[in-house]
Formats: sequence, C-alpha cells, structure tokens
Amino acid sequence: MNNVEKESFKPAPADYFTGKAFIKALVVADTVTNCNVSDVAFEAGCRNNWHTHPSNQILLVKEGTCYYQEEGKPIQKIAAGGVINVLPGIKHWHGASPDAPMVHVAININTDKGLVNWMERVTDEQYHN
Ligand code: MN
Repeated sequence: MNNVEKESFKPAPADYFTGKAFIKALVVADTVTNCNVSDVAFEAGCRNNWHTHPSNQILLVKEGTCYYQEEGKPIQKIAAGGVINVLPGIKHWHGASPDAPMVHVAININTDKGLVNWMERVTDEQYHN
C-alpha cells in the first residue's frame, strides 16, 4: 500500500487493536444493503483483539500474510489471495505477521444483527506462540 492509497484510510480504534491499523469503508450498510465491506490495513506485528461476530465475517487477504487464530486452535497463516470464512460466534483474532504489513478485505453480513463484540487483547505470548 503506497502513501497516496493510505490517505483514504482512517486509523482503527486503538482500544481494539495492538499496533497500528487503518480502515477504509468500501460499502456501508443501510436498509437496503445488509452488509459492510471494508479494507483493513495492519502494520507489521499489529493484530486486533479477540472478538466474535454475530453473523459470518469473510476475510479476503490482499497483501502480506494474515495471521488468523480461533480460540483453542493454532494460528493459521494465510497468504495473499486466501479466504477465511469466520462463522458466527467463533472467538478469534486476525492481524499481520511480525515482519510485514497485511491488508485484507472484511465482509460483514447481516449487519442488522450487529458487527462485532470486542474482547481482551491478544498478548505478545499468544501472538508469538
Ligand atoms: Mn473478525
């Protein structure tokens, strides 16, 4: 992601991310379109907090390697071009690898049920495990 592209991104809320991430809304849900689509750019080492979604969240990895972990399972490393279908209620986190930025598209369906339920931070021990 170059600097010009980065200007259209807004900083992600620091309470829910460890490290810096940036969000660009692509499709904003309304009464007709019950779905949100955003680009999310994570700097190297950045990840979001543990969380769940009320409905599926589909992640399309565009750049870098996405670190993705569901509670009780090992971290999965998904290369650019990969897809993750996060099922409703599954506790998980996602973020960049320690050495390179990562960008994914996040598609949240059925937004009338809510978007995300944020939980505790992912510790360095969990991230590097
Ligand atoms: Mn998620």
